Amino acid sequence: MNSPSTVQKSPLLRDKVKQLRRTFIEGLPRTLSEARQLCALLTQAPHATPSQPARERDALSADLFRLFHGIKGTSASLGLMQISQEGGIGEHLVLDIQHCCAEVFAATDEAIGSNVEALLACIARLERLQQEHAEDEDHGVTRLPSFEIESKSSFTNQNKKKIYVCDDDEWDAQQLSAQLACFGFSVSVFTTPEGLRAAVLAAQPAAVIMDIVFPNGAATGTELIAALRREIRTPPPVVFVSARNDFDARLRAVKAGGEAYFVKPLKAIDIVEILDSLTANREPEPYRILVIDDEAQAAAYHSFILEQVGMQTRILNDTSLILSTLADFKPDLVLMDMYMPICSGRELAQLIRQVPEFVSLPIVFLSSETNKNKQTSALRVGAEGFLTKPIQPEDLVNAVAIRAERTRTLQGLMIRDGLTGLFNHSFMSQYLETALANTRRDHKRLCFVMIDVDLFKLVNDTYGHAVGDQVLVALARLLQQRLRNSDTVGRYGGEEFVVILQDANEDSAFSIIDTLREDFSKITFHADEHEFSCSFSAGIACFPDSSSSDQLRENADRALYEAKRTGRNRVLIADNQSFRQQD
Ligand code: GH3
Ligand code: MG
Ligand code: MG
Repeated sequence: MNSPSTVQKSPLLRDKVKQLRRTFIEGLPRTLSEARQLCALLTQAPHATPSQPARERDALSADLFRLFHGIKGTSASLGLMQISQEGGIGEHLVLDIQHCCAEVFAATDEAIGSNVEALLACIARLERLQQEHAEDEDHGVTRLPSFEIESKSSFTNQNKKKIYVCDDDEWDAQQLSAQLACFGFSVSVFTTPEGLRAAVLAAQPAAVIMDIVFPNGAATGTELIAALRREIRTPPPVVFVSARNDFDARLRAVKAGGEAYFVKPLKAIDIVEILDSLTANREPEPYRILVIDDEAQAAAYHSFILEQVGMQTRILNDTSLILSTLADFKPDLVLMDMYMPICSGRELAQLIRQVPEFVSLPIVFLSSETNKNKQTSALRVGAEGFLTKPIQPEDLVNAVAIRAERTRTLQGLMIRDGLTGLFNHSFMSQYLETALANTRRDHKRLCFVMIDVDLFKLVNDTYGHAVGDQVLVALARLLQQRLRNSDTVGRYGGEEFVVILQDANEDSAFSIIDTLREDFSKITFHADEHEFSCSFSAGIACFPDSSSSDQLRENADRALYEAKRTGRNRVLIADNQSFRQQD
């Protein structure tokens, strides 16, 4: 993680806070009138007796507590300290009422009545503060959160796939472009340096692949790149390619700032590896943070801070959607409020922990609860930490980033395959179960695909194990780059891969996998002086035709076997007891 060392103020955060503050102030009258209603109901609610506990009063006061607790926390985050203080006073008064109700004999009308009266006075003060703010939005703003960040891109990776190829030999350029396209890069070809220059100035690619020598007195590739570097503040990385392998050409490439140099004829696989390290792997995937808070402004504020440093966030207001949101968004960390309607943060954390897939997902509470006992009790359900509102933006970012990074590292070691970086067998088996359960619940479809490299033993025997590994890495990369976010790829073992396609039917699954099959067969591999290509066969089984994970595996495996038996380099769909290629 980058620490915010070279800093610049973020004017954006200030604007955002202003806007959130406005929304909060606008919504406050409604909240306060709700509080008034709850107070009225509370005084009318029946007494508790030793035989009959006061359920209604408990529920009313719990609602009231949440309300004032929310006012206290959100307004503090937004720099409205006076309102926050009143919220805190209200919160304490509600706690007193709750104590009264808990002690049956103390719960006289009189005792509750005097507390409710104090609460009504507190509401009146809040209403006055609200009005003052509505008239002058800077009134009583005691603290403007300031936030300093290095740059918006410190956690992001954008624009990683667009590649410009510039070569006067159009055939060479098209060949390379076709190979790169198989790996999921979007490639544009330019045959003149001027064409490339215009394109780079118009829209920056993730990297440029540039021939060094151009005929007819045109600016050479190295000169053009050197000129571009002067024109653009952050020029894209450049890979030089050339038929020349002499010192002079290589030196010119280095002086022009080339990141790599390849001699023609080109091996696309090698270039892909460099492009990967220059683009995709330059920045880690942004952390995904799920923000759960029933207070819309608080959620928006915290999520905004995290997005400022390039993290990806999703806000969840409706806790009943937690399972599908976790499965869909796959967060690295959950940031959660403590007091919410329907279920508390503690209960929600417990619920998450009971799903095997999320046992190790870090959960951090962010609440204005300062009571140490309650904090400890919340942590006991397996939460990773407790942050108190209002929190300094830097502290929030650091707390979240450190934990998210640790999870990534640990999970990577546990669930990834060492050679390809794909999910391993055990993770995929477990994941299939969860994905299937969600699919069943949502009445959706899911396809399970088994992929096996054809005659792979022959590759190993002919060119050696290391070259075989190269083929596996290339296939892994192809699958990973080309599938949708909601699809999951794993290495099942050896030269066998599996793909879980969510919300896909037989036909769409077939067309996705068959396109990949075709692209994979077009990739040229190199071993010493030899060139060769590989293919794979695949079997597809779909839910609900195959109704359990065992059936999915069994049927996909049978379809794969049949694809092998009937000639390889093909995709078959398991269809009851028979197989088909496509509708
Ligand atoms: P088929 O088309 O029927 O699938 O033929 P095949 O040769 O691909 O199948 P077979 O199962 O006979 O051979 C698979 C080979 O894959 C044997 C094994 O040595 C090799 N293999 C397994 N894991 C790895 C690995 O991690 N790296 C390399 N290079 N080879 C591996
Ligand atoms: Mg095989
Ligand atoms: Mg095999």
